[in-house]
Amino acid sequence: MRKFNFSAGPAALPEPVLYQAQQELLDWHGLGCSVMEISHRTAEFIAVAERAEQDLRDLLSIPESYKVLFLQGGATAQFAAVPWNLFGSGAKKADYIHSGHWAAKAIKEARRYGEVTVVASSEDRNFRYAPAKDCWQQSAEAAYLHYTPNETIGGVEFDYVPEVDCPLVADMSSSILSRPIPVDKFGVIYAGAQKNMGPSGIAVAIVREDLLHRAMAGIPRGLSWKVAADAGSMDNTPPTFAWYLSGLVFQWLKAQGGVEAMARLADKKSALLYEFLDRSEFFSSPVEKESRSRMNVPFVLADERLHKPFLEAAGEAGLLGLKGHRSVGGMRASLYNAVPLEAVVALVAFLSDFEARRG
Ligand code: PMP
Repeated sequence: MRKFNFSAGPAALPEPVLYQAQQELLDWHGLGCSVMEISHRTAEFIAVAERAEQDLRDLLSIPESYKVLFLQGGATAQFAAVPWNLFGSGAKKADYIHSGHWAAKAIKEARRYGEVTVVASSEDRNFRYAPAKDCWQQSAEAAYLHYTPNETIGGVEFDYVPEVDCPLVADMSSSILSRPIPVDKFGVIYAGAQKNMGPSGIAVAIVREDLLHRAMAGIPRGLSWKVAADAGSMDNTPPTFAWYLSGLVFQWLKAQGGVEAMARLADKKSALLYEFLDRSEFFSSPVEKESRSRMNVPFVLADERLHKPFLEAAGEAGLLGLKGHRSVGGMRASLYNAVPLEAVVALVAFLSDFEARRG
């Protein structure tokens, strides 16, 4: 029996997608072998790849003037790819918004290649909120501004898109495809797949075409968006199975009503959980109300000694993946697209029961 899975990533995948992959595993579309066992250069695989790209373009209404790249190395490789690809013309300077764990990693990596200005930070209140829209100013020579619309560990989500004159770069690893986004306000959007798109092993970058010509000399070819764009994301052997499976997730998303439907569902699921946490006298959310993530909901217990019994009881109740990130402790429920409403209903019932028994 499949359980309710609140893992932060790799995370729950839609059940119909897993069934389809299972059905197709030994014999993909009458080919007599699986999609994993054919060359990425075959017409069959190229059709899989092109369909995945088109479906992603449809889901996010990506304009023609943007390239969609399927890459390796996760979002972490993109922390380096961003400065490598954008510091080649003008000053090697960039602005970053510091909103927590993942922003910090992006900043640390970019500092290896140029000068980073942290234009806004929520460190003063331990990253429990997203810096406000108007509290900061862009630096004069910034090649780009980078931010993390959803902090997966802190559970902090921006409810606005920063307005800047330079290219806006966003690490959307944990919020992509959870709501419509105005792609044309961004220079670059990137995300690892293993939360809202598919399995780990593949990442997506959506890059405005004019930004393909700003790379620093000597850029490793594995990080170059231009090389990837020119090669149809096949400069080297791509992770074909992850690409195929992500494509099935895109088809599933379209059948569910696309990102608008996902946004409504995310609002509903997260509201249900936050309303419970705010009512509870035993569980609470550490994140300030205006910045609470719809995707990742960290919560704490009034008595830390109950962490272990809590996780054990949750496991017995069929609720997986609730342990918080090792860097912050506590608990976290990730409510990505593939997590159904029933999972959150079951979680809230479990929390309520645990509080009544142990709180
Ligand atoms: N950025 C964010 C917001 C993330 O949540 C993660 C992974 N949890 C990463 C970057 C790193 O992704 P990857 O492991 O794919 O490199």
